[in-house]
Amino acid sequence: MSAVMMTRKVRKWEKLPGKNTFCCDGRVMMARQKGVFYLTLFLIVGTCSLFFAFECPYLAIHLSPAIPVFAILLFFFVMAMLLRTSFSDPGVLPRALPEEATFIEMEIEATNGNVPAGQRPPPRIRNVQINGQIVKLKYCYTCKIFRPPRASHCSICDNCVDRFDHHCPWVGNCVGKRNYRYFYLFTLSLSLLTIYIFTFNIVHVVMRSVNSGFVKTLQDTPGTVLEVLVCFFTLWSVVGLTGFHTYLISLNQTTNEDIKGSWSGKNRVQNPYSHKNIINNCCEVLCGPAYPSVLDRRGLMRDDLSVPTSAAEPATNSNPVPQTTKTTAPLIPNEHTPDDAKPSMADAAIAHAEKRSPSPREDKLPTLPKSSPTPTKVPPLASPETDAEASIIAKDKAL
Ligand SMILES: [Zn+2]
Ligand SMILES: [Zn+2]
Repeated sequence: MSAVMMTRKVRKWEKLPGKNTFCCDGRVMMARQKGVFYLTLFLIVGTCSLFFAFECPYLAIHLSPAIPVFAILLFFFVMAMLLRTSFSDPGVLPRALPEEATFIEMEIEATNGNVPAGQRPPPRIRNVQINGQIVKLKYCYTCKIFRPPRASHCSICDNCVDRFDHHCPWVGNCVGKRNYRYFYLFTLSLSLLTIYIFTFNIVHVVMRSVNSGFVKTLQDTPGTVLEVLVCFFTLWSVVGLTGFHTYLISLNQTTNEDIKGSWSGKNRVQNPYSHKNIINNCCEVLCGPAYPSVLDRRGLMRDDLSVPTSAAEPATNSNPVPQTTKTTAPLIPNEHTPDDAKPSMADAAIAHAEKRSPSPREDKLPTLPKSSPTPTKVPPLASPETDAEASIIAKDKAL
């Protein structure tokens, strides 16, 4: 048996290594675990359908036709924000190409020197200065990159995500740099919708009970009790979550940073991204520029297939595509080539951040000069971060 190489063109999303699912030829991107997302959809659509079916007709006639109209508008806004959060790229950072990974490994070995056998190698960390604060860039052993500041690796999606907030099973996606504001608007509008439905359910029951009695009212509108229960239990968690994220936005902080205490002062590092002003922080998080996806997941790339052939078949009859086509067709065209990456790892990491994160604040990052006083030796502060550490599902569980 021998094998010949066949080349075909595929979309890049088909070859992305993370644990994501794609639909609509790569336009829609989600985490693989979507069970809780379907539950979210079911609860919102189900509760609103009951409200439109049982309460809205009565309230429109006896109170105001504006009540169902506003409920419909709010419902569509909630669904739009949910789907926008769930179906988008949260800010996934591309992994290093094999050549880049090899180069970075060589540079790390050159920096750290030979570690004697039996000793643990020092943690792979680089320090950069941002707005006067020293911030660590940690090396991701899965993606083979030094993560930009604020990025972290989600072990559920198996990707490094820029400005990683947390992985939210309720929306079936990571929440990061590109979809955080939509996630926040989703929780905010869902809080309003829940309060709205809960309030008008009570109003409806009270108005009907005056005429036909409490028991008769519940018999006529069997969905009311279910709606009130769902809204009551949803209210506390969703409103609490919205309040928590409002607090984070006012500090320009992520859930991940809050849980890890990144800027709590114990490391003597204050949040270099905060404007020290609530209004400015809210404007930057909610009204700042929209960042393009750096995955180029709908772009085309060549894929080499190894097709087994019979041993009796002469090799000269096989596919004329030469072996040289088995190239390292770059997954990400925006990625720097190994030649570009030569200056230094820290430069590469910052360039990584700048290419992907044209944040005005991060643009102020000074590129690390070769003679930078910023330590290039690894400080003995922390052990290497494991990938599992980075996944934060935490606060969202209470939703
Ligand atoms: Zn990673
Ligand atoms: Zn995730």
